[in-house]
Amino acid sequence: LLVLGIESSCDETGVALVRAEGEGVPTLLAHALHTQVAMHADYGGVVPELASRDHIRRVIPLANEVLAQSGTALEAIDMVAFTRGPGLAGALLVGAGLACALGAALDKPVLGVHHLEGHLLSPFLSADPPEFPFIALLVSGGHTQLMRVDGVGRYELLGETIDDAAGEAFDKSAKLLGLGYPGGPALARLAEFGDPEGFKLPRPLLHSGNLDFSFAGLKTAVLTHAKRMESAPCDQQRADLAASTQAAIVEVLVKKSLNALKNSGLKRLVVAGGVGANARLRDDLNAACAARGVRVHYPELHLCTDNGAMIALAGAMRMQAGIEAPSRQYAFDVKPRWPLDQLPLAA
Ligand code: ATP
Ligand code: MG
Ligand code: FE
Repeated sequence: LLVLGIESSCDETGVALVRAEGEGVPTLLAHALHTQVAMHADYGGVVPELASRDHIRRVIPLANEVLAQSGTALEAIDMVAFTRGPGLAGALLVGAGLACALGAALDKPVLGVHHLEGHLLSPFLSADPPEFPFIALLVSGGHTQLMRVDGVGRYELLGETIDDAAGEAFDKSAKLLGLGYPGGPALARLAEFGDPEGFKLPRPLLHSGNLDFSFAGLKTAVLTHAKRMESAPCDQQRADLAASTQAAIVEVLVKKSLNALKNSGLKRLVVAGGVGANARLRDDLNAACAARGVRVHYPELHLCTDNGAMIALAGAMRMQAGIEAPSRQYAFDVKPRWPLDQLPLAA
């Protein structure tokens, strides 16, 4: 079964092809990605109208690239999965539009996929795929959630951020340090040269006793220090502030993940989403989990942020699990807002 996946929820256009056989974990045959980061950088954030237009320009060439790379004829595709939401409405419509056009032209069914389920399942494409059940730490640009995952479509939300997402905390702090957009990777690079204890920053909700997160207060603290630095800029201090910010975010993520593991008694953790690429987070989680006999699984580094592979994978796995039959309705109703707990569930 060949599944083409299309991602266009925000500022990455991604197309991929996976093969699913029986119950086995689907394998990635090819994927292609275009990031609009450079285009939005001048504006300090994603401009929705520009994003939609660029998806339109890129998505068909990327699909052709994937077919060529994998030596697959268009007619051989059995199903098209696309990101149905959450995300920018106009951007989502581009992927949905192509998916439905292909489906209608080829007489093949389509399946709308939840973007976060894509992130969540992306570690299944790694060389070390997880097994159910596990605790998932989903840390992306728009979400920070801890979940208990018992199978495809069986997700229980344990806690989430009450304000900013972890990726947002990275991005906003990076902006305050003059690092541009998106700042996560840039802040991580600057942090390598800094002292993580150079600045005393808050660890919001660290001892809250629940599994919720809050990062807005951290951003305010970073702002205060960044302002103070403006009068006498110092490279070492900037690096120290970057390192301290990263350390604060990572400490909270690690602590809460360990609490979720402890509460559940599970010995398996899956990390997904763009912040999952952060080296400090990986190092600290690996150390903490090794000490507790917990196995940690990550997506491949290049599949942490948005991509088509995770959408093709999630579509294929949902179908394998028999949760949702793909449809020939070709009604591309996207869902810009779409809580994960509103997904059709497994029986
Ligand atoms: P969502 O999936 O919640 O809709 P999104 O798609 O924008 O949001 P992702 O693509 O999963 O989010 O991840 C992007 C985020 O990951 C950005 O906030 C970015 O700064 C952050 N990020 C990427 N690499 C790193 C890194 N090495 N360290 C820290 N943050 C990073
Ligand atoms: Mg992005
Ligand atoms: Fe994402």
